[in-house]
Amino acid sequence: GTPVDWSAVRSDFPLLGRTVRGGRPLVYLDSAATSQKPNVVLEAEVDFYEQRNAAVHRGAHFLAEEATSAFEEARTAVAAFVGADDDEIVWTSGATAAINLVAYAFSNATLGRGGAAASRFALRPGDEIVVTRAEHHANLVPWQELAARTGAVLRWFEVSDDGRLSLDDGVITERTRIVAFAHASNVTGAVAPVAALVAAAKAVGAYTVLDACQSVPHLPVDLHALDVDFAAFSGHKMLGPTGVGALYGRRELLADLPPVTTGGSMVEVVTMESTTYAPPPQRFEAGTQMVAQAVGLGVAAQWLGELGMPAVAEHERALAAELLRIADIPGVRVIGPLDTTDRLAVVSFVVDGVHAHDVGQVLDDRGIAVRVGHHCAQPLHRRFGVAATARASASVYTTLDDVVAFREALAGVRAFFGAA
Ligand code: PMP
Repeated sequence: GTPVDWSAVRSDFPLLGRTVRGGRPLVYLDSAATSQKPNVVLEAEVDFYEQRNAAVHRGAHFLAEEATSAFEEARTAVAAFVGADDDEIVWTSGATAAINLVAYAFSNATLGRGGAAASRFALRPGDEIVVTRAEHHANLVPWQELAARTGAVLRWFEVSDDGRLSLDDGVITERTRIVAFAHASNVTGAVAPVAALVAAAKAVGAYTVLDACQSVPHLPVDLHALDVDFAAFSGHKMLGPTGVGALYGRRELLADLPPVTTGGSMVEVVTMESTTYAPPPQRFEAGTQMVAQAVGLGVAAQWLGELGMPAVAEHERALAAELLRIADIPGVRVIGPLDTTDRLAVVSFVVDGVHAHDVGQVLDDRGIAVRVGHHCAQPLHRRFGVAATARASASVYTTLDDVVAFREALAGVRAFFGAA
């Protein structure tokens, strides 16, 4: 397609025009935590509330019909963006909720809920759930809890010194039932070898759960082509609103998956004794939904799709290369791959002799926003012998100027603390 004007893209994000810390231009390098929002997304939410707000799926009136259309068109936009069918996308409040939904559905199946069809998800004591040491806590703790509830055993792939997954033999076994892993790490930026993991899981009949939080905003993602069983992502990291995200499930699996949250809008027939459930995705969408947020997310997905994800990935690969040049600053150690192959513009690092929180503060004094801490990945930090890192991460609106300002400020950090 035609080349993208990235500075025009940036000017679509009103927040990026503001100043911080006494008039300094904001250098926002915390997009892996949450992204900023373009005007089209902000306007879509306001427009929904100003023009269309009504309860969806109970369309006895004009507005309810319009609201339902907007809600379902958003689902279609998000589904198309990730290479899924409409009825394979379940709205959730975010990736955390989506992963918990799957884990609790497996629990319910184990308890015999959901009938014969759901028994395919039942776990027996000694069955194995496989994750990786690189997981965000959102894709680790729910599986620890599922293991505790069912007697299953949690196993994991380790991470090598360069921050890539070590796909050692013997982690996935004949007893593996679930393989859950991040498409891209929110700490190292490394992109997982999805095809190899999916093939290994399939070979033993295990279900795959992809945490696509960090990949969907930054890479072309086609869930059908990746051939995963379930996937989770969050709206707020992909230029959309907070409070909305999605669970993807292959149609045939969602059809058999028992519900987790029960109540209104997810039922067919309710008597005082029992209830029959609606087909997916409604079966998993009990209660009043986050309609305005879903509409905003649909617009974000469409906007990113029009920008073109191959172009976005290319833009961000160039930014990753520029961010990685911090590895040349004396005393700076990057935690994660140093080359841009299969790697996103998420760069975590430590500075010799300076605590990550102090690094963050010096940068913040210059208007540069990075994340500091364990980024919800304590086991991964422990692997590298650090309690905390600082992390700079980019998005579509990040420019080379942002990265240069960051590099220059970081180069002065050790001197500032007398560590150089
Ligand atoms: N997984 C990964 C890889 C993430 O980066 C995040 C957000 N930091 C999550 C899961 C959780 O997403 P949310 O907080 O939006 O539910």
